[in-house]
Amino acid sequence: MDPGKVLILNQTFEAFQVCSARRAVILLFMGKAERVEDTSRVLRSPSTSFVLPSVIRLQRFVRRPVQPSIAFNKKNILKRDAHTCQYCGRNGGERMTIDHVIPKSLGGRTVWENVVSACRPCNLKKGNKPLGEAGMHLLRRPNKPLSAFYLGILAHAAQRCESWSKYLPVEADGHALMGGR
Ligand SMILES: [Zn+2]
Repeated sequence: MDPGKVLILNQTFEAFQVCSARRAVILLFMGKAERVEDTSRVLRSPSTSFVLPSVIRLQRFVRRPVQPSIAFNKKNILKRDAHTCQYCGRNGGERMTIDHVIPKSLGGRTVWENVVSACRPCNLKKGNKPLGEAGMHLLRRPNKPLSAFYLGILAHAAQRCESWSKYLPVEADGHALMGGR
């Protein structure tokens, strides 16, 4: 995980925001948040030491602004899948392609639930065959992201850490789904 990022929970324990460690420390010192999970990173000064948090919780409930709807496009599909091939797990950055799980030629629709990020070799291998016939399987079932906020979390798969997982809905936590943990 990136120790520089901290997950903020609302007072209700619902995931609310991701912020920098600096902002999290300020919220703790101001008494606006409490510490829920710690990292193993410690900030030291000559007189004191301070364990950096990985999850904090707001003391007061904050109403979340209305979330914009998520555009269905290649950029957001790649974001949802963290630019990772959903067949072999390879991270292909911007060079990923989009694959229809049920091929269009077999009536597969172009919807969140039927499109995944795929590397070129996997896309070629699968061709116009259904999964079983191609001898391939998906790392996780594609879904429509719950909200723009969760899409943002999914996009930073590498920065998410184990201690965040239990505060995210299963559908929003690609890490848990991919690793089966
Ligand atoms: Zn692949």
